[in-house]
Amino acid sequence: MPDSIIEILSSLLFPHTCAACGTNQLLAENGICTACLWTIPSTGFLEVPENEVDAIFRGRLQVEHAAAATYFTRQSIVQSILHQLKYSYRKELGLQLGQWMGHQLSTCNWIKEIDSILPMPLHPERKAKRGYNQAELLCDGIHQQTGIAIESNLLERTTATLSQTTQHRAERWHNMKDVFQIKQPSLLENKHTLLVDDVVTTGATLEAVGEKILAIPGTKLSIFCFAYTLPH
Ligand SMILES: [Zn+2]
Repeated sequence: MPDSIIEILSSLLFPHTCAACGTNQLLAENGICTACLWTIPSTGFLEVPENEVDAIFRGRLQVEHAAAATYFTRQSIVQSILHQLKYSYRKELGLQLGQWMGHQLSTCNWIKEIDSILPMPLHPERKAKRGYNQAELLCDGIHQQTGIAIESNLLERTTATLSQTTQHRAERWHNMKDVFQIKQPSLLENKHTLLVDDVVTTGATLEAVGEKILAIPGTKLSIFCFAYTLPH
């Protein structure tokens, strides 16, 4: 009984609402309501080999498949929910969006090629401040839908980087190059790894990690992000 009183009180003090429209008509484990989830546009990239995310890496990184589940545009529902996922401690949102990604993956024709899922790491200080790494939550959701194992804590981000917005692509690449380490490379040997992140823009950080993965013998690499930023 005391539990339910605490739940009632906390729901009054901290109402659980949809991160997109604000309705309180949603399941406790969800971050957005079903109606809003349906309005998130799907790219369909998983079934299109030469899509816009693949084009980012073409000639730069040997990827088998690269895709994003949706588009990131300004003033959109995607921008709003990603902002809340990053800055408003909405863990349930990350898990739900990961499940949505996992649902798309589970029906794509190359899902069976993937051996393990790897979340892009956050710098430990940023993770401590945010309370979680949103890419890990996305991976948890993907795992729930597909059953593919997550290789967690394998990737380490060693140093904080300078602001990306003020640098040119070449400088960004230089800064990223030695930021990541793979702690037990043998765990990825001869495997096809799916690298997961929330947003892909220039692809610089994914490229830096991807290079490290592909340096391990026998590895194959694919990339799947929640959202792709359209060029302005
Ligand atoms: Zn809603």
